[in-house]
Amino acid sequence: MTTPEPSTEPSTEPSARDVDVLVTGAGITGLYQLYRAREAGFSVQLLEAGDGVGGTWYWNRYPGARFDSESYTYGYIFSKELFEEWEWQEHFAEQPEIEQYLNHVVDRFDLRRHIRFGARVSSAVYDEGSGTWSVAASDGTRFRARYFVAATGVLSVPYYPEVPGREDFRGESYHTGLWPAEPVDFAGKRVAVIGTGSSGVQVIPTIADEVASLTVYQRTANWCTPLNNAPITPDEQAELRANFEAMCEILDTSPSGFLHLAHDRAAFDDSREERWSFFEKMWGSPGFSKLTSNYSDLLMDEAANAEWCEFVSEKIRGIIEDPETAEKLIPSDHRFGEKRPPFVTGYFEAFNNPHVELVDLRQTPILRMTEDGIETSEGVREFDIVVWATGFDFGTGALARMGIRGRDGVALVDHWADGPRTFLGVQTAGFPNFFFPGGPHAAAGNNPRYNGDQVDFITDTLVYLRSNGFETIEVTSSAEDTWTDMIDRWATRAPSFGESSYYFGSNIPGKPRKYLLNSAGRPKLFAEIARVAETDYQAFTLSRSSDRRSAEV
Ligand code: NAP
Repeated sequence: MTTPEPSTEPSTEPSARDVDVLVTGAGITGLYQLYRAREAGFSVQLLEAGDGVGGTWYWNRYPGARFDSESYTYGYIFSKELFEEWEWQEHFAEQPEIEQYLNHVVDRFDLRRHIRFGARVSSAVYDEGSGTWSVAASDGTRFRARYFVAATGVLSVPYYPEVPGREDFRGESYHTGLWPAEPVDFAGKRVAVIGTGSSGVQVIPTIADEVASLTVYQRTANWCTPLNNAPITPDEQAELRANFEAMCEILDTSPSGFLHLAHDRAAFDDSREERWSFFEKMWGSPGFSKLTSNYSDLLMDEAANAEWCEFVSEKIRGIIEDPETAEKLIPSDHRFGEKRPPFVTGYFEAFNNPHVELVDLRQTPILRMTEDGIETSEGVREFDIVVWATGFDFGTGALARMGIRGRDGVALVDHWADGPRTFLGVQTAGFPNFFFPGGPHAAAGNNPRYNGDQVDFITDTLVYLRSNGFETIEVTSSAEDTWTDMIDRWATRAPSFGESSYYFGSNIPGKPRKYLLNSAGRPKLFAEIARVAETDYQAFTLSRSSDRRSAEV
């Protein structure tokens, strides 16, 4: 990856506008940061590359895109009124409803006037003299911000694998993470889907009935289990409203940010018969509860994990009529939870359609794209549409592409050449007044809850600085080292997490193999945030402009 040079300011460009807090990214995290900073009395501006709000939920508008965390646990819980007035239609909402919700939030809290759309940050350079960030966007606007908050998400840079001839294909071609706003017409088309991660397995059953033929190119089978979605009934709506405070209490304190309760038994506390009956209950349970409410040792004990995998394999064999296809769809190279498990609706069933076919790329790898289709070692198949469900440059992708330079002109990509280095997943040493909630080392569960914790911490920190007359804040190298070493150590502690996961950046050729989530979990984040307050921000260097001036003399 090349390191963007800091921009120089041509005299014809408009002069920079001053703002206290400049946020980039109008996703769930960025909008919350915008709201909190404005409510705390700071002048604010948000820059968004897209033409609408939603972030990940704006760009990923492919057919079948939906939450796999419960809608009411993923949405905002900072306002009871908002919670009460927005009735989610389904336990796991689909992308159009999510986008509508976020637009509603923006208008309800009068945030739109602070957002500039079509403005992708192209450079952000720290000026040591003034203790501010000079930020330039693709639409020619420039800002000088006291605090720069990049809420650019972990899944915002789509990844296309290096398949020879990719540009040669003359049919329609789409990446799930960059889906067009206009509907794609699949009717009667010959369609290929490459990739069977969470995105691919949502697209496949959604378009299966519409297309003339669907060919699924799978490299690695995933442990897919049912999402078990359903409309939210009027009684459930009433219950959600009545239990708002109790729900917030659980979400604000849960280690994973979900409502699902942990199970208190280990797999071999039960007989095989009892275990299978419990697994049956898990199979019918909603979304992530299969991970968070399953046997307590599921992720730590290989034998326990193998039992669940055997149960799921039996289920897959029971659904799919063709035994050969069933075996291909059963993962053989990783345990449940080692990669992020997708949750599906009608995925396995789709393969029972005669016009839906699975190509196992381990047996017949893709050689190249041709003008008409895809060539594997087996020959060429022709397609009208190719869907790339091939994932993202996870965690650091967007931050690495924004031309961020900190003190002494050091580029963020150089500081992170061996992987991200952070404290609490919110700051990095050498980049004063720069925060990145919802980025690397952030969540390891229900994202908005973790990311919200970070936004709350950042906002409280900005208020603390203002109240105490400080203008700059920079995490110390030792605090960064301690947190980063801890993340790396914990990442390999649970035997279930293998480095084959994109959680380690391993899907991107040449990317350092470093854990990109918060491996220590939310309790550790809470504990460290509390310690920051108790120790009067010892993990940071705080300064006033007079300090900076005297340091320069
Ligand atoms: P992903 O999990 O990284 O999956 C990418 C897929 O593309 C994998 O099957 C991968 O195979 C395949 N692939 C990559 N390079 C390939 C190549 N050269 N040839 C053939 N296949 C190739 O990406 P994703 O499905 O977009 O999901 C990313 C994340 O987004 C999810 O894990 C989840 O966190 C989030 N997501 C969430 C939701 C939701 O909440 N509802 C929905 C969709 C996505 P290998 O496994 O062999 O690398």
